[in-house]
Amino acid sequence: MSPFAESDTQCMTHKRRVNSLIHERVHELRESEPIAFFCECSSPRCFDTVWLLAGEYESARLDAEWSVLSPGHRCVKPGRVRDLDSSP
Ligand SMILES: [Zn+2]
Repeated sequence: MSPFAESDTQCMTHKRRVNSLIHERVHELRESEPIAFFCECSSPRCFDTVWLLAGEYESARLDAEWSVLSPGHRCVKPGRVRDLDSSP
């Protein structure tokens, strides 16, 4: 197992954590200015920036289903699509 072989879900979680840190660091300094967050799509190579106000980010974060996404980018949700136990 390579340490770089992150699953899509882990990648999303990682970028989400980075966004939380960005928010923690700057939301008090830049309440009325947009902040650059990372796109949380499932591509590990995507580091697009999405500009949001701190308040927009905070209210959106209350919804667990919500992700920061660049236009046209998709977030593949961790679901029960693959049931490993059922494979032969
Ligand atoms: Zn993206």
